[in-house]
Amino acid sequence: MSTPKILILGAGYGGLMTAVRLQKQMNYNEVEMTLVNKHDYHYFTTWLHEPAAGTTDPDKCRVEIQTLLDTNKIKFVKGSVSEIKREEKKVLLESGEELTYDYLVVALGSEPETFGIQGLKEYAFSIRSINSVREIREHIEYNFAKYKMEHRPEQLTFIVGGAGFTGIEFLGELTDRIPELCEEFDVDRSLVKVYNIEAAPTVLPGFDQELVDYAMEVLTRKGVTFKINTPIKECTPDGVVLGDGEEIKSNTVIWTGGVRGNSVIEKAGFETMRGRVKVDEFLRAPGHEDVFVIGDSALLINNETNRPYPPTAQIAIQEGDTLASNLIALIRGGQMKAFVPSLKGTVASLGKGEAIGLVGDKKLFGGSAAFMKKVIDNRSLFLIGGLSLMMKKAKL
Ligand code: FAD
Ligand code: NAD
Repeated sequence: MSTPKILILGAGYGGLMTAVRLQKQMNYNEVEMTLVNKHDYHYFTTWLHEPAAGTTDPDKCRVEIQTLLDTNKIKFVKGSVSEIKREEKKVLLESGEELTYDYLVVALGSEPETFGIQGLKEYAFSIRSINSVREIREHIEYNFAKYKMEHRPEQLTFIVGGAGFTGIEFLGELTDRIPELCEEFDVDRSLVKVYNIEAAPTVLPGFDQELVDYAMEVLTRKGVTFKINTPIKECTPDGVVLGDGEEIKSNTVIWTGGVRGNSVIEKAGFETMRGRVKVDEFLRAPGHEDVFVIGDSALLINNETNRPYPPTAQIAIQEGDTLASNLIALIRGGQMKAFVPSLKGTVASLGKGEAIGLVGDKKLFGGSAAFMKKVIDNRSLFLIGGLSLMMKKAKL
């Protein structure tokens, strides 16, 4: 019998967790494992709002993938997946290289969901990778510099579209950075406008009301103007048009209005909902015994609420862990176990020293929530890269 081949696409939280758990438990030569990722580094998606605003260096939020792998057990291929050929059990990379598999793990993460809103793809930024956040940071700084030459208010007007956790966390960082930028570029703080536009009747829809109120109070104090119950209808080169017809002029629109699964998956012909594959209890794509989909590319229904679990790193990491055990069971002839998420809660940063959180049924505010956020961020470093990654990158 030939050695089974496991091919993992994407080295984000889900893919990397699968890889590191497999390398820990599989023997040399028991299986041929390959991990493919667009970049030769893994970035901590959950930290990206910080370098986007410029409060953290982008380098702090990434680690070279090879340093996390036992390269005698897992081969790393730097490449962009362009096509999954399900029938042939092959994956095509943009370079033209073709990879084959017996078991495929699709962990390609998400893309911004624009809901077909005109102009968003062309004119708005989104927080999705190291490259995208470098661009956002540079763009913000450039607009401060330009303002000193041209004095146009839209150069100092910043719009965050969507008040989910990504939007709220970014606003926390942005409002921490603005005073620094004002000092650096000799700009009066009162000239800088920060808007958060949310379509739903509240920010953080569905989250605990007391925590939502606290977040709004903190961010309002830090200079955010909220416009809730007001969808962005269009994004133009000059700013945004809202549902009620109001236009806000701005050179900088950051779209944080939600995510959908990676488009590679849809193109491969898998049945999807908002680009995500509705997986079975073993995280398999329907009709495929050999294709597993995890992380933001997967749609998993919570049987208690009959609604999908939100796409989070917390779940992606747990899925990677369970999947690694299940792949080992398949290869060694054991039983797979069903994936059941163990939700620990949600903690969201509101900038330096401020956060909100719901851990079990305990609500956390301010400094204690911010401390918990650091604990969570450091824990995910430990899960993915052990003590050595934690020592290098931990948040203190
Ligand atoms: P990702 O971690 O996004 O990884 C996908 C990987 O696939 C990347 O390495 C990417 O480079 C690679 N890739 C993509 N396309 C290709 C291709 N074509 N070819 C090759 N490689 C490719 N969740 C939480 O639980 N807690 C939080 O505090 C939290 N904070 C967040 C803060 C922000 C600013 C954002 C944006 C999200 C946050 N999330 C949080 C959500 C969380 O980051 C995602 O749910 C999580 O990253 C999903 O993991 P994943 O492995 O599916 O995808
Ligand atoms: P989201 O889908 O959670 O939030 C998007 C928000 O945009 C929603 O409130 C929605 O009503 C709003 N919106 C949609 N269309 C709009 C429009 N036309 N105009 C204005 N507002 C509009 O997306 P997200 O915040 O990017 O989060 C994605 C996933 O990542 C979620 O599962 C989230 O829980 C997770 N996440 C978690 C954390 C954390 O735990 N700290 C941080 C960031 C993200």
